[in-house]
Amino acid sequence: PQPVQPGLVGRLFGRGAAARPEEPRRALDDDMLEELEDMLVQADLGVETALRVTANIAEGRMGRRVSSSELKTLLADEIARIMAPVARPLPIYPKKPQVVLVVGVNGAGKTTTIGKLASQFRAAGKSVVIAAGDTFRAAAVEQLQVWGQRAGVPVMVAPQGSDPASLAWDAMVRAEAEGADLLMIDTAGRLQNRQDLMEELAKIVRVIRKKDPEAPHNTLLVLDATTGQNALSQVVTFRKLADISGLVMTKLDGTARGGVLVALADRFGLPIHAIGVGEQIDDLDAFDAGDFARALVG
Ligand code: GDP
Repeated sequence: PQPVQPGLVGRLFGRGAAARPEEPRRALDDDMLEELEDMLVQADLGVETALRVTANIAEGRMGRRVSSSELKTLLADEIARIMAPVARPLPIYPKKPQVVLVVGVNGAGKTTTIGKLASQFRAAGKSVVIAAGDTFRAAAVEQLQVWGQRAGVPVMVAPQGSDPASLAWDAMVRAEAEGADLLMIDTAGRLQNRQDLMEELAKIVRVIRKKDPEAPHNTLLVLDATTGQNALSQVVTFRKLADISGLVMTKLDGTARGGVLVALADRFGLPIHAIGVGEQIDDLDAFDAGDFARALVG
């Protein structure tokens, strides 16, 4: 038989525990809770969230002997309870065009996510326009054009280094003229120069509000799950730069099991609209709190 790879909880019961005929039990005592807490911190939940989760599991159960599978269920339920309120798909507005501004650091997966979202909206019968608002990075613009082709969606581009706000204006004009359902605007992710980036984003918002005072209807922050706790500081930073309405977490297909999502949900309560699970066009899933919690606990 294959050796059983213990998941998060399995480790608390010792290696090979799952292969023994009878499920081992351990008392929920201070030692066990401390180990559980350490394990949750290692899994990227962060200290505060790990403490809260552990305290909730301990409540009313101190001294009780639990099996590995009982603890798994308790932990998964606790995590699912934190995650359930943030598992919300991108809200669709009746307004045309619905303007979705996409922000995040370079490499987080903005371009890829825009391509995947565009493809999903197309499949749902919606017309989409994309604006390649990271006008400084020629590679980002080219990449977005490739995604636009794959998704069958027009991508508006501007000369390298030109003002992204003026591109956003042109894109609004085109989306309105064509009666497009959705306009997705990519943005630069140069966090090295925050002041510049803040002004750039503010100007894009100002310009599109001249056309529609309620736009952008969504401002999505794209985060890379493999950056672990770093995702938390990115939320703090981007909330100062833009009015973030929701998150997309990418690269959850890799080794990262995304424990940081629990910390994000616990701390900010921002909706998680979707998760990236690969580099292909269909690799964008709805976020499901129960599935996520069970996968994380393992
Ligand atoms: P941007 O700079 O924020 O626009 O990031 P990109 O969209 O160019 O993505 C950066 C890299 O991450 C690319 O190589 C993508 O293929 C990859 N990527 C994006 N999303 C995912 C995902 O969900 N899973 C995996 N494995 N790779 C991803």
